[in-house]
Amino acid sequence: MNLKILLLPGDGIGTEVTAAAVEVLKAVGKKFGHTLELSEGLLGGIAIHKTGTPFPKETEELCQKADATLMGAVGLPEFDAAPPSQRPEAGLLGMRRVLDVFANLRPVRTWPALVDSSPLKNHVVEGTDMIIVRELTGGLYYGQPRGMDENHGFNTMSYTRKEVERVTHTAFKLARNRRKRVTSVDKSNVLEVSQFWRKIVIEVAKNYPEIQLEHMLVDNAAMQMVLNPRQFDVMLTENTFGDILSDVGGILAGSIGMLPSASLGEKKGLYEPVHGSAPDIAGQNKANPLGAIGSVAAMLEYTFGLMKEANAVNDAIGKVLESGKVTADLRPKGKPATTTEVGQAVSAAL
Ligand code: NAD
Repeated sequence: MNLKILLLPGDGIGTEVTAAAVEVLKAVGKKFGHTLELSEGLLGGIAIHKTGTPFPKETEELCQKADATLMGAVGLPEFDAAPPSQRPEAGLLGMRRVLDVFANLRPVRTWPALVDSSPLKNHVVEGTDMIIVRELTGGLYYGQPRGMDENHGFNTMSYTRKEVERVTHTAFKLARNRRKRVTSVDKSNVLEVSQFWRKIVIEVAKNYPEIQLEHMLVDNAAMQMVLNPRQFDVMLTENTFGDILSDVGGILAGSIGMLPSASLGEKKGLYEPVHGSAPDIAGQNKANPLGAIGSVAAMLEYTFGLMKEANAVNDAIGKVLESGKVTADLRPKGKPATTTEVGQAVSAAL
């Protein structure tokens, strides 16, 4: 298969973790006989420096031509005081909009080798393997009207039928290849928008009789995630609830450097580790590349449908974690490995 992939390393550790992820991608191509058609573009602070804008037109065109985009991270401290539209992060938001990626998938699993690094008790986190599907382009963050004055601040949580239907289909299709269980999270005891959400989810679920659907109120879901995370397979929720719950997921995984993500639309996929550009460790070859490498596994699975290859990458990550050759954030017993060494170790384990 020919894999047409755009690389957007971005800023800070984004370039370092992307380099390690590309190494793994090349190893997958070699092992499984796929050709890679890689292109590279500018996004974020580096794009502002070179072109004056965080999301240049050429990058937009490259995104449209590729089947999938692998991003590192964006953000440079020198832009911290700039207005939002002139910050590197504006490039990322612009790209999500252009690609119309409405479903954000965040797999959360507890690797056996990392159970001890979790602040939660081993018997609680062991065996966690869930995926949060968060609606990404609607809800409270986009709803109108919004605003504030001296005495009043307000936002609107609003969803259309189409917005709920499409993300619900994404969640149910994912569940088909997993443990066949969807938990839809809402606040339907208080909010009309949640009652609407629940009604549409129930309608869409009729297309997937093999999938078990349950509903959970968001306050209870937050508690259940730390009480008994193993009960969840696919968790489907709206934008704001998903934003909050997915950070709870970060605790279950051991380190922010471990978390991959995928943002999917009707056609395109955007893959990126959850972390930012980490200016405090940038340029030191210290960053954990496993979130970026996990994002490669997600790309192989969701955009290209290459399950065997995706599983091989995840298995290789597991082996490297077991070997103890890990970066400083995972608190290894011996000398921490570098970003490059971890990338090479995953490629070798493949
Ligand atoms: P951050 O995720 O960059 O860093 C938070 C902490 O986690 C830091 O101590 C960092 O060293 C550590 N860390 C992060 N990723 C790591 C990795 N792979 N390995 C080891 N340690 C890791 O968040 P921040 O410091 O709040 O933000 C820094 C910049 O990144 C800001 O400009 C912010 O706007 C931007 N940001 C970008 C994205 C993105 O590109 N998707 C996401 C979040 C933040």
